[in-house]
Amino acid sequence: MKAIRVKEFGGPEVMRLEEVPDPKPSGAQVVVRIRAAGVNPVDAYMRAGTYPRKPALPYTPGTDGAGTVESLGADATAAKRFKVGDRVYLAGSLSGTYAELALCEEQFVFPLPAHISFAQGAAMHVPYATAYRALFQRAHAVAGETLLVHGASGGVGIAAVQLARAAGLRVIGTVGSERGRKLVLDEGAHEVLDHSAANHFEEALAATGGRGYDLILEMLANVNLGRDLGILAVHGRVSVVGSRGNAEITPRDMMGRDGAIFGMSLWNTTPHELISIHAALTAGLENKTLRPVIGEEIPLAEAARAHTTIMAGGAYGKIVLIP
Ligand code: NAP
Repeated sequence: MKAIRVKEFGGPEVMRLEEVPDPKPSGAQVVVRIRAAGVNPVDAYMRAGTYPRKPALPYTPGTDGAGTVESLGADATAAKRFKVGDRVYLAGSLSGTYAELALCEEQFVFPLPAHISFAQGAAMHVPYATAYRALFQRAHAVAGETLLVHGASGGVGIAAVQLARAAGLRVIGTVGSERGRKLVLDEGAHEVLDHSAANHFEEALAATGGRGYDLILEMLANVNLGRDLGILAVHGRVSVVGSRGNAEITPRDMMGRDGAIFGMSLWNTTPHELISIHAALTAGLENKTLRPVIGEEIPLAEAARAHTTIMAGGAYGKIVLIP
């Protein structure tokens, strides 16, 4: 099969399309023929070698993907969840998803409803599982609360808007472009603000009538965390999803509100929690409250361009690679 290989950490150009042996499933493993692979910022951090988790070289990048079941190990066949040809999406793989085939653990493979495209399936795991975990497993969001999705136009942001809207929260999203604004409104935000505007924290507070936010999902904590604490409601929580540097906070902003900051990393999700998250997500796909938005489909051979694009900003839904 063809797969992207990384032999040294570095810029996007270290990703090269090569011929490698086909993976073979054993035990509870499944091989999936990848029709689309999701591109996430973490793939770029890992490739650069700047991420705390460093894969052993050489490796094939990618955790997200969707396609059809190609072959099953004996235990996966006996489990009878899947048969050859079934449409599926993946929550991680053992061999990397920037490839024509991916070796997976059967328990982290999930059915893809007929009305969801392979590209949309490839947009499920990291963005939606992260948004779900940040909202519900970490910050315990409940219906009736007011949420600020700080960075709503990207993969995690769109997922959070759809999940929170379906769960009965009031949702305010922020974006940095006009097309992002339209997208986030279309996907269910009650109101959209521009995070590049100098006064957007004042506008965000005004959108709650001055009461503040029960919950903030933060995509760029190094820029926003300090001021997020000043627009929390009493008992408000910030779930920190993304950060690209240090932040300064005023602890009294939290003390006066009984506020809390939750860190989160999808890597810390237990297998049991992950299976629970994806049970909720597949239900959301089936009942059509979850509709992954694809920003761009890029040929697998141009993976380097996909990484340059995802790190450039101006997000609009998900970027996927097509083998
Ligand atoms: P993405 O698709 O590239 O989207 C990035 C988002 O950040 C866009 O909505 C972008 O908005 C927004 N943004 C840009 N400037 C901002 C600002 N000043 N304030 C607030 N938001 C701003 O990335 P993603 O997949 O959604 O991931 C978002 C972040 O979460 C990344 O840093 C990623 O590494 C991290 N992440 C963490 C976990 C975890 O386990 N903790 C899991 C997944 C992702 P515009 O482009 O419209 O300006």
